[in-house]
Amino acid sequence: MTNLETKHPGEKEYLQAVHEVLESIESIYNENPQYESAKIIERLVEPDRVLTFRVSWLDDDEQVHVNLGYRIQFNNAIGPYKGGIRLHPSVNLSILKFLGFEQTFKNALTTLPLGGAKGGSDFNPKGKSDTEIMRFCQAFMLELWRIIGPNTDVPAGDIGTGGREIGYMYGMYKKLKSENTGVLTGKGLNWGGSLIRPEATGFGATYFTNEMLVSNNDSFKGKIVTVSGFGNVAWGVALKVTELGGKVVTISGPDGYIYDEKGLDADKIDYLLALRASNNDIVSPYADEFPEAIFVPGKKPWEVKCDIAMPSATQNELNGEDAAQLIANGVKYVAEVSNMGCTPEAIEVLHDAKIPFGPGKAVNAGGVGVSGLEMSQNAMKLNWTVDEVDAKLHHMMSSIHMACIKFGTEDDGYVNYVKGANIAGFIKVADAMLDQGIV
Ligand code: GLU
Repeated sequence: MTNLETKHPGEKEYLQAVHEVLESIESIYNENPQYESAKIIERLVEPDRVLTFRVSWLDDDEQVHVNLGYRIQFNNAIGPYKGGIRLHPSVNLSILKFLGFEQTFKNALTTLPLGGAKGGSDFNPKGKSDTEIMRFCQAFMLELWRIIGPNTDVPAGDIGTGGREIGYMYGMYKKLKSENTGVLTGKGLNWGGSLIRPEATGFGATYFTNEMLVSNNDSFKGKIVTVSGFGNVAWGVALKVTELGGKVVTISGPDGYIYDEKGLDADKIDYLLALRASNNDIVSPYADEFPEAIFVPGKKPWEVKCDIAMPSATQNELNGEDAAQLIANGVKYVAEVSNMGCTPEAIEVLHDAKIPFGPGKAVNAGGVGVSGLEMSQNAMKLNWTVDEVDAKLHHMMSSIHMACIKFGTEDDGYVNYVKGANIAGFIKVADAMLDQGIV
């Protein structure tokens, strides 16, 4: 860590993600001297390569804008580089390196042959017109296409990148490359996409959380669930939790949260999805539309009493104080749906209180998992049905849960899911690297 801090000063999210993994794999590392002699850690913590590029585009008033674009190809020991593209003003090298590092372990957990990558730009999609989004996506792909390919590196969605953006990027890739392959995932259903991909992260996260509940002889029935965000992920969580008998009482945006005592339902979710398509804030208008809901400005939903908290927005959105507040309010489970949604202090507080805590790289792996299934369908030039994809997603999430139990169960029976997920992911990637020599 000291070495890494000297080499990459100030990259705080990246250093945070590496620290968490190194801490939990220490015992396995020490028991297996072959890792040390092949310098597996030193090789695994540095991305294979980083591409940064300039993205110039014209807005609707013909003004020129310049953004930074990135692709971090982190590790391809077990399969082609795979990971989303984040479009958000906060995007920088540290954030994308942390996401690429996490992705490497997450993808290993999915049971599929997927390496780890991440990309993105500091472009802010909020308030942009559809044509501005298109021009940006095309300009972004004008650089990115050089280093991606269906067997090399397969980008997908993330914060700010959904089906529409993938469509514009795919259109440009095809134009440049003259090939119709599964180079991106999250594609539209009638041009190579997979059923269930839009819902997969949220559904998978709910299946994983359900496994946590079942292993404690518990269920979602009658549980109050707080969720943050309402992007690509939170709506799938809200839909599936509601289906399984839980009540989702919050969603949030950058400027506050909604508390809806009656809980979200399919109609309210449809209303939110329609609003979201307009690129505008959706959280405060919800309270105008549904009088039973209140908008709490400038706050996070972790002050609301709940049985299960599912942070689904962005990194470090739930801190030590939030965790303490959740515990004081009687929380029974926390499932991190966002990537690194909880700070190290929050995780420590939850672990000390023996609250089952599922980390993002296990909980949200269903999204990239179904992306992997999209790649398989593209390669076979076949489509699976909803039931086929959903069954495979279910299977994936329960095998990830089993891996966490296998490697994370402590002497007193408490499951440290962070340790379990990190060790399971690490062993798979590290062993593949050992098999393939020093490259
Ligand atoms: N961005 C998602 C993630 O964090 C999905 C990535 C993918 O489908 O490749 O896992």
